Amino acid sequence: MSANIDNVMQGFEAKNPGQTEFLQAVREVVESVNIAIEKNKKYQDAKILERMVEPERVLMFRVPWLDDDGNFQINRGYRIEMNSAIGPYKGGLRFHPSVNMSILKFLAFEQVLKNSLTTLPMGGGKGGSDFNPKGKSNNEVMKFCQSFMTELCRHIGPNTDVPAGDIGVGGREIGFLFGQYKRIRNEFTGVLTGKGRNWGGSLIRTEATGYGVVYFAAEMLKANGQTFEGKKCLISGSGNVAQYTVEKLLDLKGTPLTVSDSGGYIFDEAGIDRNKLQFIMDLKNNRRGRISEYAEKFSSAVYTPADKTAEFNPLWNHPADCAFPCATQNEINGKDAQNLLDNKIALVCEGANMPTTADGAEKFIESKILYGPSKAANAGGVAVSGLEMSQNSLRYSWTREEVDSRLHTIMKDIHKSCMEAAETYGKKGNYVDGANIAGFIKVADSMLDQGLV
Ligand code: NDP
Repeated sequence: MSANIDNVMQGFEAKNPGQTEFLQAVREVVESVNIAIEKNKKYQDAKILERMVEPERVLMFRVPWLDDDGNFQINRGYRIEMNSAIGPYKGGLRFHPSVNMSILKFLAFEQVLKNSLTTLPMGGGKGGSDFNPKGKSNNEVMKFCQSFMTELCRHIGPNTDVPAGDIGVGGREIGFLFGQYKRIRNEFTGVLTGKGRNWGGSLIRTEATGYGVVYFAAEMLKANGQTFEGKKCLISGSGNVAQYTVEKLLDLKGTPLTVSDSGGYIFDEAGIDRNKLQFIMDLKNNRRGRISEYAEKFSSAVYTPADKTAEFNPLWNHPADCAFPCATQNEINGKDAQNLLDNKIALVCEGANMPTTADGAEKFIESKILYGPSKAANAGGVAVSGLEMSQNSLRYSWTREEVDSRLHTIMKDIHKSCMEAAETYGKKGNYVDGANIAGFIKVADSMLDQGLV
């Protein structure tokens, strides 16, 4: 890296001590965009990179609520408004006990570049809480969401900041959050995306991230003269992104073999078919059960419990053609990446945000397999959120086919712009550099246009 970039990173590390995930995300981007910054003195003079890694605004607030036994509970709420150069802040809310400032800042930073890649006018943000929805009653989830929105509603709006779902925040939570926003502000607007179909939601939003991941992967295969037909696929997670990744893989004649949750994973040697996927959707979305139940129901599957002390995750150690990490950050470490490569994996496409550690990503890039980074591959979710915003503004709704076709076109365009940016900067075939550079340039140029703000 150049001396200039080294200085930026030193200042950044000093200002954000202990924020390991944020540092990991920024370092990866800085290493990719270094070449574009070196070539463009305007970016250096205007300190674009230094400004981009500093959130425009960080909100942190108390979320008090009463549980079903009448006990007082206190959680911490956050919203990171990272960058509004190309549109209102946009990005999900995550409810998970691991949520902290580092994780949300990494997600918000990635979101800025991801939203830029979608071609839609959306800035980047992210938020959430260390609240754990697991094991809570519907009533408790509603009370928590209402308290969370009582504070958040002062800071968001359809032209300011438009949150959506993420881990632990699905249709149920978006409903409770929207209801409280409407009640306090007395306005019915498109302030959240991922809404129910009856009250302003877009068709295909639920499916969009998973479908988009597979559309992106299909483009990578197509550029190499291949299709999904007959390809064995490993998928982690069993939530929103994993479910619709499996569904679209089935549409394209791939064979999904695994899914997981934080308790462990199942390997189904007969393949996960539509009937089994329906079981997973009911288990996770309605009964809110554990994935171990899959192996109790289907004899062709083996369940392996998670071992947090192990050096690697056995899910990534099965021979397969394609891998789709769709659970959480840093779920593929260097050893997992090596296991995948030793088993001749040909494609890794990231549904979760930053699911691969830095050393794992380096192995994928060096091996020259097809490697689709999250900020490009999982941008379909936010893209359809952008389409939901457009439909809300128009007070109109598009058909399922219309939204799906727009999503497909957006994913093809993202794939193309990543490929072209990589090639322009001498990194042919490197989708990581391509995504970072293409996303960065649009935001950087918009920041230049808007002056020192
Ligand atoms: P869900 O909450 O629907 O599902 C998350 C899945 O991952 C669950 O199976 C969960 O298991 C598992 N998981 C979560 N945390 C961990 C952990 N620490 N260790 C092991 N397993 C874990 O979330 P989504 O499917 O919406 O999100 C998954 C990923 O995709 C995240 O990285 C998210 O940021 C990203 N993403 C989501 C988008 C969306 O539209 N929803 C858009 C773009 C990216 P368990 O239930 O046991 O916790």
